[in-house]
Amino acid sequence: MAIEKFISDLVRPEVQKLAAYHVPESGDMIKLDAMENPYSLPDEIKTKLAEILKDTSVNRYPDPASSYLIKTIKKEMGISDEFEVLLGNGSDELILLIMLALSGKNRSILAPSPTFVMYKISALTTGYDFIDVSLKDDFSLDMQAMINQIEENNPTIIFLAHPNNPTGNKFKKEEIIKIIETANGLVVVDEAYFPFADYSFLDDLKDYDNVILLRTVSKMGLAGVRLGFMVAKPEWVEQINKVRMPYNINVLTQTAVSLILSHRNILDEQTQRICKDREILKESLESFDDLTVYPSQANFLLFKTGEGDADKLFEFLEQNGVLIKNLSGSGGLLKDCLRVTVGTESENSKFLEIVKSFYS
Ligand SMILES: *Cc1c(COP(=O)(O)O)cnc(C)c1O
Repeated sequence: MAIEKFISDLVRPEVQKLAAYHVPESGDMIKLDAMENPYSLPDEIKTKLAEILKDTSVNRYPDPASSYLIKTIKKEMGISDEFEVLLGNGSDELILLIMLALSGKNRSILAPSPTFVMYKISALTTGYDFIDVSLKDDFSLDMQAMINQIEENNPTIIFLAHPNNPTGNKFKKEEIIKIIETANGLVVVDEAYFPFADYSFLDDLKDYDNVILLRTVSKMGLAGVRLGFMVAKPEWVEQINKVRMPYNINVLTQTAVSLILSHRNILDEQTQRICKDREILKESLESFDDLTVYPSQANFLLFKTGEGDADKLFEFLEQNGVLIKNLSGSGGLLKDCLRVTVGTESENSKFLEIVKSFYS
């Protein structure tokens, strides 16, 4: 039998139809496409890191429970003992684990659209129907449509990225609560951008039995170590933990993140700097008549160009050595939209300079 026949007979049709998550080659371009923190660690921490990694036993399996790291996370993030923490190889993995634990025949997942693309990719690969409910023009939740869909389809899981990616805005707290109270399913509040937002759901978590909170250290400066965490009532963590691979958090990550988080002030200072620079960048972009810049509670800005200009501006930036994210191809609300991650001061200026020469 030809390989094509094996593939078409054996691979799930949903998977055959999918495109793999695409990460563009960035070479030595200024990289403002992936919501990374642009700063490295201070030399003093780097030296400490090298020292403790030197003494890490890579011949042994890591602590399967990541106990020390979880203890550090709980302490540094102010997570109270009424909740448990479960770690994932990035919060991407936790999204998948939640889906695996709850999957079954005729189950569906609902999320507003546009949002983080991995919800849909993972939902389809784990056998769910995926329902997306368009946000309104200003990227706020269309509550009428959300409630209708929840009542009609009774989704098993609802994902709310808060602040939302790629739009950068937060939703109204009372709307999130209304969704939680209407749903018979689980609501996952994904706070990947919590370091840059002025609001977290953590304080409200205790009031609800159908909510899991997701966070990650990726956007706060540690994207390379791949560590996300779930905060939830113990009953949820107990169940999701059963589908987790025993050693999903490697020993280097456990050791490094425990050390770095115990110097959390360094990451916090970088985060504050990024928030300040975000506002400066926002004002500068707003000075271009052709651009509409959306409010952001994250470490990136979404902006809209004049009709048909997004591809041209994106390519012009690329030719001049700056990589951002072109979302225009997704169409709908994102037509003509580009997303730029807040970089260092000099990266942001370089970016603005190129935008300026594009428009002059
Ligand atoms: C970046 C991002 C994630 C994934 O984070 P990792 O921990 O790096 O896997 C999850 N959710 C949202 C909304 C994101 O933007």
